Amino acid sequence: MSTRIPATLIPGDGIGPEIVDATLAALDALQAPFEWDRQIAGLGGVKAEGDPLPKATLDSIRRTRLALKGPLETPSGGGYRSSNVRLREEFQLYANLRPALTIIPGGRFDKIDLVVVRENLEGLYIGHEHYIPIDGDPHAVAMATGVNTRQGSRRLLEYAFEHAVATGRKKVSIVHKANIMKALTGLFLETGVDLYERQYKGKFELETVIVDACAMKLVLNPWQFDMLVTTNLFGDILSDLVAGLVGGLGMAPGANIGTDAAIFEAVHGSAPDIAGKGLANPIALMLAAAMMLDHVKLPEQATRLRKAIDATLNVDKVRTGDLGGSASTGAFTKALVSRIANG
Ligand code: NAD
Repeated sequence: MSTRIPATLIPGDGIGPEIVDATLAALDALQAPFEWDRQIAGLGGVKAEGDPLPKATLDSIRRTRLALKGPLETPSGGGYRSSNVRLREEFQLYANLRPALTIIPGGRFDKIDLVVVRENLEGLYIGHEHYIPIDGDPHAVAMATGVNTRQGSRRLLEYAFEHAVATGRKKVSIVHKANIMKALTGLFLETGVDLYERQYKGKFELETVIVDACAMKLVLNPWQFDMLVTTNLFGDILSDLVAGLVGGLGMAPGANIGTDAAIFEAVHGSAPDIAGKGLANPIALMLAAAMMLDHVKLPEQATRLRKAIDATLNVDKVRTGDLGGSASTGAFTKALVSRIANG
């Protein structure tokens, strides 16, 4: 019996509990050694505790330093801050890792294998915004301040470069807009080039690319990229673009890595339109669980999970509605579990 690994489990809102159950079935079939501590957050947290991020949930993550979470809804009204943003700040989850890998061949973009590493805490997302009222118009002027630091840029770039080396990436592209935002994104660019020259030269190729050109190149020829590393806002936009290249959000996992914890999730939201109907595609969360297995140094189980997903989709042709199939969440999960058992 391998050592148990304590981890927090947040089923979340909407389709969250359905895709979490499906993912647990897959992890159980793999005999993944997680010892789950189930906690609530999001709308569930508001209903039970009046807080989308209850203290017990934060305490649990503080203890386990590892979490798998379903999507969380932030109630509009009531002045609640996004639970996802609070989690990032609370646990200093400075790196957001979003891989995009083609699993179903024959789509508009075939054989995509890309990863976006996004700075998760700084830049234009720090929330320093205000209006200046003029002549009775309370919103006459809007201002936002972005803050990037050398230290924050450096730790993110170091994480990205280490990940590139560990996973055998051949090329890293630093994405910036230093021709216009000379200080804000120039600092990130300068820090990245300097770090590469000092410590990583020869380990992979480094290029720098301006964000607007990068967006165009990603649509014209995404195969020219291998890993993109960038600041918060650009990373948010480009990682959704890259998810679109491999069939949309239903296939897109994400990891939030920090000094104090690592939290794994599907990129999509709670899909309230299909919640409770058994229609949700659980693959994004399952791929997030595979990233979590890699993170805790169980790469063999991660590979078995990824291979079983591939075989269920492409050999058994069992697919949920968003992928053009007719399988329910339960039918897909059953097929996947038997693939794992027989694989
Ligand atoms: P969404 O991702 O929930 O849904 C967008 C569309 O994609 C919907 O039509 C939905 O049915 C479909 N979809 C999403 N995931 C699917 C899946 N696994 N299988 C099949 N179809 C799927 O985005 P939204 O509607 O803008 O957001 C709904 C709620 O989720 C909001 O409250 C939002 O704040 C929250 N949200 C949370 C997270 C998170 O916790 N990480 C991320 C994004 C949105």
